[in-house]
Amino acid sequence: MVLEQVRTEALADIVVSVSAATDTGGRPDNEDAVLEVSLASAGDGEIGSQPGFLLAVADGMGGHQRGEVASQLAIETLGRMVNEDPGADTALLLKQAFRRANDVIHQNGRASGDGSIIGTTLVAVVIRGKYATIANIGDSRAYLVRANQLTQITRDHSLVAEQVAEGAMTSDEARQSPHRNILTHALGHRQKLDPKLPSIFEIVLLAEDRLILCSDGFHDVVGDSDMVEVVLQFDPPGAVGALIDLAKTRGTTDNVTAAVVRVESAKTVAGRERELDTVLAGRPSQWIILVVTGIILFVAIVIVALMVF
Ligand code: CA
Repeated sequence: MVLEQVRTEALADIVVSVSAATDTGGRPDNEDAVLEVSLASAGDGEIGSQPGFLLAVADGMGGHQRGEVASQLAIETLGRMVNEDPGADTALLLKQAFRRANDVIHQNGRASGDGSIIGTTLVAVVIRGKYATIANIGDSRAYLVRANQLTQITRDHSLVAEQVAEGAMTSDEARQSPHRNILTHALGHRQKLDPKLPSIFEIVLLAEDRLILCSDGFHDVVGDSDMVEVVLQFDPPGAVGALIDLAKTRGTTDNVTAAVVRVESAKTVAGRERELDTVLAGRPSQWIILVVTGIILFVAIVIVALMVF
């Protein structure tokens, strides 16, 4: 498992922590890729004036492990472009980065010479202050956990998702369908990306929100209530590890990737730190009690021994 370090940033009156990891899951190789980076503040301007995060999950496809190339190219292109221009409008920046990634992957596929097409899904979130901007193509997803409820933010670009939208299939039927992995859009499959893509979603984050980004190797096997329970129980690195373990326990036959965002009020975090300080400050006195108790016990044993012999 490639487990990345947790990153935490105080953003105005909220504190955001993130973590992400990917795992081969039920396959020998990993065609998923994950990205977790801190974004610098762009100075005084309104946009990008706060530090933040970029998180992304990509799920590559293509024969002979070429899916790995596609997902890595998507992640690298996205990471480079978002870091290059921190002052730009986030939604526009994400659209440009997805377009660029599509071109790079399509060219790489054509350059391979055997006419093979490579492609990848991509779901990404940029967090600046309390604003989260999410972009997606394919069936890697973003979920929001708010007030104990799970909401799928992204809409899959897949055959079954389109049939569900048209009312031709229920969500449960889509979940069971043998065709559930057939995508209608992915990065790299066509020379030019559909002008409507990527889909963009904007959310104002609230304290106690959680975001989950994941590949289908995860959401195919893990249910809604399990996701909610895990992300509310653990901190982001713990949650990411537990979610991946859960997908493996549930018998995923695919690669598994998950990223978690935790939003807390600055007050909650300060309260927790104060509690920790109190516990730490309380330790010396606990040691003294232990040592004194030890001495008293020792003296008592010596006295008893002297009386007996
Ligand atoms: Ca997959």
